Amino acid sequence: MAEIINGLEISKAIKLEVKEKLQTHYDEGKRKAKLSVIIVGNDSASHTYVRSIAKTMEANNVVCDIHMLDEETSEKEVIYLIENLNNDETVDGIFLQIPLPKHINSANVTENIHPAKDVDGLSPKNLGKLIVGRDCYVPCTPQGIMHLLKTTGIELEGKQAVMVGRSMSVGKPMVSLLEKENATVTLCHSKTKNLQEVTKQADILVVAVGRPHMITADYIKTGAVVIDVGINVDENGKIIGDVDFDDVFEKVSYITPVPRGVGPMTNAALLKNVLKAYER
Ligand code: NAP
Repeated sequence: MAEIINGLEISKAIKLEVKEKLQTHYDEGKRKAKLSVIIVGNDSASHTYVRSIAKTMEANNVVCDIHMLDEETSEKEVIYLIENLNNDETVDGIFLQIPLPKHINSANVTENIHPAKDVDGLSPKNLGKLIVGRDCYVPCTPQGIMHLLKTTGIELEGKQAVMVGRSMSVGKPMVSLLEKENATVTLCHSKTKNLQEVTKQADILVVAVGRPHMITADYIKTGAVVIDVGINVDENGKIIGDVDFDDVFEKVSYITPVPRGVGPMTNAALLKNVLKAYER
């Protein structure tokens, strides 16, 4: 019988822990923790996500300062804002919402976030530290997934792990984290041949592609642990994952639902990273 990993419940415990730790600092008379969020342009999914970040921060003792820049803002102007936030001692973390408008190179901009304030963990310096095993801000979604696996008591050492999707924010850092726990990791992408044969080897399967219900029972090894990162909207406006939950359910040992799986863990991990920046 498959077990559903309840990310929403697990994330609540993390949020409460962070909230209480911050309250202890405030009770000692310290200033409030602050996250500065930068959003450029009108992408509606990005605005929805930024609103959810602000809600999480404010509900858990963090001041969230949103900088909304219009679509025409130049790369130079975004970098200028980042430099100001880098120098502002009341700002603990900087979160840059991606995607940026096409005329802005996100790698150029991200590089300018001071490493001590890079709470999203996606700057090249931070990702480099992750790979060499130095202390860093672990990118939020992979950090949240690792927390789900550990809390659920899923053994990783010696297991075959397959990551489908190689984004900088999910797939690539996820590979490093799984490898660090001594799993044997395969990274798949759109050019992978015979994907189904590869995923059928997985004891742990993590999927971050952005294709609704792409992974069906035919892609799953019996007893696998399945982590669905995908967020897609179906024709009825319902949020669904990259994994066909109903189709695979009988075959898996553990699975994250969408919604209430990985999503809430991403915000909880961001909150944890803000606490880490504040305590520094
Ligand atoms: P992304 O940048 O959108 O890239 C998609 C990845 O999937 C690419 O590596 C691509 O391969 C691969 N891919 C595309 N079609 C494929 C196919 N047919 N077979 C195998 N691989 C394929 O990735 P992302 O930003 O990680 O987002 C992926 C999904 O996760 C989206 O639905 C996004 O909304 C969701 N997401 C959720 C959270 C959360 O907190 N729950 C966080 C982040 C993202 P190539 O590299 O070869 O193009």
